[in-house]
Amino acid sequence: MRIEEYRDMIYACGRCNFCRGIDFDERCPQIFTQVWESATLRGRMAIARGLLEGNLEYTEELAERIFGCFLCGRCREECKKAANIDAIAITKAMRGDFVDQGVKIPEGGEVMANTALESGNIFADSPEVHTGWAKGLEFREGSGLLFFPGCLASHRFKEKTNILVRVLQAAGYELDFLGDEQTCCGTPYWVTGKDQKAKQWAEGYLEKLKARGVKEIITPCPSCFRAFDEEYPELLGLEEFPIRVRHTSEVLAEIVEKKKLKFTVPINKKITYHDPCEIGRYRGIYEPARKILNALPGVQFVEMSRNREEAFCCGGGGAVKTLYEDYSNTVAKERIQDFIETGAELMTTICPACEMNLTHGTYAADIEARVLDVAELMAVSAGIEDPEILESDYFPED
Ligand code: SF4
Ligand code: SF4
Repeated sequence: MRIEEYRDMIYACGRCNFCRGIDFDERCPQIFTQVWESATLRGRMAIARGLLEGNLEYTEELAERIFGCFLCGRCREECKKAANIDAIAITKAMRGDFVDQGVKIPEGGEVMANTALESGNIFADSPEVHTGWAKGLEFREGSGLLFFPGCLASHRFKEKTNILVRVLQAAGYELDFLGDEQTCCGTPYWVTGKDQKAKQWAEGYLEKLKARGVKEIITPCPSCFRAFDEEYPELLGLEEFPIRVRHTSEVLAEIVEKKKLKFTVPINKKITYHDPCEIGRYRGIYEPARKILNALPGVQFVEMSRNREEAFCCGGGGAVKTLYEDYSNTVAKERIQDFIETGAELMTTICPACEMNLTHGTYAADIEARVLDVAELMAVSAGIEDPEILESDYFPED
């Protein structure tokens, strides 16, 4: 049983309620959507004790309490003031135990993991479709600096990804790209508890990257970023990944700091920023995007009420988008309310999954507003893109 490793932490829960809060629907998107006490970290620790003591069985009903968590880390942040319980590690271990016990997880999770394994990406795209975003771009094979867009940025946001690469290239980064050989990073395996497949995947990928001479990976996807930087070393028993990995937020901030591009076109809009959980709370990367936005002429930056460590999830975390889509959409709509309250005209973020979920949230909230990647604003201000992409009635071809 994987949760044995966390026995002390599980019994350390003093049921203080910090993770759930008095304002219980303000913090945890799971209880916000799933209402029951068992849909909180506090409840999950009680379930874990029940499983450790043999008083609970591994059932499909119970599995929903574990797989319905967005893995957003908000409770882990709160629990730092109490028992410092690692909510993410324990929830992942519990997911693994449920899969090991043969409990059926929602079909969407199986489909996502199997699709990634069989076709190389979570959308079952052909390589030609999956690399369509790169049309017209040139890369330098063997440069050692690999641009790794990940499944979502390849499939769902072709224009955004194309713009991001043009910003990086205009700033002088000589990017390599795997083209037809790029496959999923493997995140669908560990979020659905399939650790054995995840390990094999990581071994194979590391070999492929080494053979290509990759020295550094730049990715816009926080899940891919963490996959290479955190999950692979853990799966492979390495102290650290032998290749440097950076999220684009850090690279784009470097462009601003080192003045690699000139930003002369004024944006002239009130703008807010959504912190993606996997680079924010998971990695403490809060400031780069804010520094960039504040450096662009004409940007009037305004914070949402829930920001940085206290940011509310976009609804896309923990594979909940795939496993329980209604919960995901409800959370996205709630996050859009935070945006509406600021009076901002544009919401920005720096994660393809957040961009997708928040865009779905604008549909659910019935408002016309674009959710943009920070790189798109940089592209406009640097004169690389037409300002029309900022307008709410602009629809990219993808
Ligand atoms: S904050 Fe931590 S210690 Fe307090 S109830 Fe939640 S899980 Fe338990
Ligand atoms: S990780 Fe997020 S969704 Fe899961 S229990 Fe904690 S606060 Fe709730």
